[in-house]
Amino acid sequence: MIASRALYERACRAIPGGVNSPVRSLRVVGGTPVAFMEGKGAYLRSIDGAEYVDFVMAWGALILGHAHERVQEAVCSGLRKGTHYGALTLGEVELAEKLCEAIPSMEMVRLVNSGTEATMSAVRLARAYTGRDMIVKFEGCYHGHADSFLVRRGADGDIYGVPSSPGVPKSISTFTVVVPYNDPLALRRAFETNKGKVAAVIMEPVAGNMGVVPPERDFLEEVANLTAAEGALLICDEVITGFRLEFGSCSRSLGLEPDLVCLGKSVGGGLPLAAYGGKREIMGTVAPSGEVYQAGTSAGNNASVTAALATLEVLSDTDPYPRLERLGAMLEKGLCGLASETGLPLAVNRVGSMLSLFFTENVVKDLAGAQASRHDLYARFFHMMLQNGIYIPPSPLEAWFISGDVCVAAKRRSAPWPLPWKDGRRREVRVDHGSLCSGCGKGSRHGTIPGNLSAGSGDNPAGRREQEGHRDNLPQKKEERSLRG
Ligand code: PMP
Repeated sequence: MIASRALYERACRAIPGGVNSPVRSLRVVGGTPVAFMEGKGAYLRSIDGAEYVDFVMAWGALILGHAHERVQEAVCSGLRKGTHYGALTLGEVELAEKLCEAIPSMEMVRLVNSGTEATMSAVRLARAYTGRDMIVKFEGCYHGHADSFLVRRGADGDIYGVPSSPGVPKSISTFTVVVPYNDPLALRRAFETNKGKVAAVIMEPVAGNMGVVPPERDFLEEVANLTAAEGALLICDEVITGFRLEFGSCSRSLGLEPDLVCLGKSVGGGLPLAAYGGKREIMGTVAPSGEVYQAGTSAGNNASVTAALATLEVLSDTDPYPRLERLGAMLEKGLCGLASETGLPLAVNRVGSMLSLFFTENVVKDLAGAQASRHDLYARFFHMMLQNGIYIPPSPLEAWFISGDVCVAAKRRSAPWPLPWKDGRRREVRVDHGSLCSGCGKGSRHGTIPGNLSAGSGDNPAGRREQEGHRDNLPQKKEERSLRG
């Protein structure tokens, strides 16, 4: 980590905190960020020459894994014709049509560059469309860093938001009501005390920003009923879940009918692209067809649109979702085995290829539960995993993501990720984890779960590989195929 540390020190002199997004700094788990220089498939290589199995996947943006050939080729050949014209292109129209085709509630869509832009614009649109100012958000859901979202409940549990960052005007935060996730009663109360004032409820249909927290059935029903009854729009923020859990939006499989859906991450194939869209009647009010202003210099640029089109094509051709579900189940089983082996309190929340590990013996169904888990144990676990060549999120409140650089022929069409409540109870999990990245063909060199958390780890395969000079060890194509069968 000598090179990473040196680069980080240099970065700290030029970039606030040495990183371009706070979570990358490892504040929660301590230590120095690893600097990377290459990624291929499920693997990352650091500038120190160590290799890692990557379960961060650019915070969920890389559903196809790093440097997917079809995406890369499409982007490279597209770039030869220029990066961006700032004008109408065939690609952006095709992409808009494909998104609308994949998501039935999306009759029109506007392309933007980041998830924040998508959610911020969707909220503005909802306010304009309903003529109301209040929005309801759920505690622990993250919707980007616009002023309306950087709020938390007041100290006394007051539902009216207070700024969670300096610089957010208090007056703006009071237009956001903050309610615990999976708490239908609190949601009902919030509507009762703000009758006729709520423009929209914005939610992550499966939460991924307090760790993974699946929605409970009665909560979803209340969201659907209350928004419909009170004339508030339902904005499903699917920046993480869109095209991650199934081809398109997961809201419908969950029984929701969103008025607006926000997309990002997976859709852009690792390039900056996001989108918001919904019913024609609502989207028709966006400028220039309507009065609600929203614009973007880089919106619809060639590189992002080409990456998105290639990503959607691969996802549609290969249908990786059933396999991602199987890989997710394997990972979950392995992690739960760790609990049995060590006797540590451990809860694994998973939906498809999104997963979180909480060191707690309680069921985690909201932010309070996630925060009550043992962050100190997670920090130790993070560093042990890192030493063992596995890169996981540097916070228990971030989701792990599995990539699906796979070629499975079958066509999807139903949600392949059973929610815990589908069979009425949480799954009981058994030991026998073996290797995390099982089937990777690299034996224990990648991804073996450290057997004894409390003992600390003297083993450092990542470092050892560095010493042994395995600098060209990222999997080659033939080997990769064997991983993905
Ligand atoms: N919504 C959700 C659900 C997210 O997870 C994120 C980013 N983690 C955002 C919005 C904001 O996206 P961006 O970082 O691209 O602005």
